[in-house]
Amino acid sequence: MSASTFLDVLKSEGLTVVQVGDWRTHNRNHKGPWGPVHGVMIHHTVTKGTAATVRICRDGYAALPGPLCHGVIAKDGRVHLVGYGRANHAGSGDDDVLRAVIAEKALPADNEANTDGNRYFYGFECENLGDGKDPWPAVQLEAIEKAAAAICRYHGWGAPSVIGHLEWQPGKIDPRGFTMASMRARIRDRLA
Ligand SMILES: [Zn+2]
Repeated sequence: MSASTFLDVLKSEGLTVVQVGDWRTHNRNHKGPWGPVHGVMIHHTVTKGTAATVRICRDGYAALPGPLCHGVIAKDGRVHLVGYGRANHAGSGDDDVLRAVIAEKALPADNEANTDGNRYFYGFECENLGDGKDPWPAVQLEAIEKAAAAICRYHGWGAPSVIGHLEWQPGKIDPRGFTMASMRARIRDRLA
């Protein structure tokens, strides 16, 4: 979908959206392909403070240039759009997982890093320290549910098209503090 449609579907799901700078054209398309998209990936940031979190996700850092996702979901539930197109969020993951996402079947273990995830997934970074203690406010979890559901609704996908980074790339632990099974159940109910 176009950047404008991306914005529209998020707003239509009832989300409060903050547009950050030139997000519509801020991407890594010069470094590799973007699309066809097959799913939505959820992350935690390991950062504190919304302003710093959004800045890091937009700009990235020397070893990993931004954007680091498409939308940053803050503790207050607002979605900050920082990029659109290819983004450095998913890294290399498991082709068996990608096939399961496309087929919307149960996920196999992610034990290979052989597939470019930045090509195939929308990415949302969620403001959280990721230490298992930092709370996930209800309004933030609701925003994750809505953002993922909005994209699924547009593409005609179901909740199995939404995965956590930890289900994609060996060694990743995000998101930590809620289960993706619980989030997929919420998304399924919202789409029902
Ligand atoms: Zn991640």
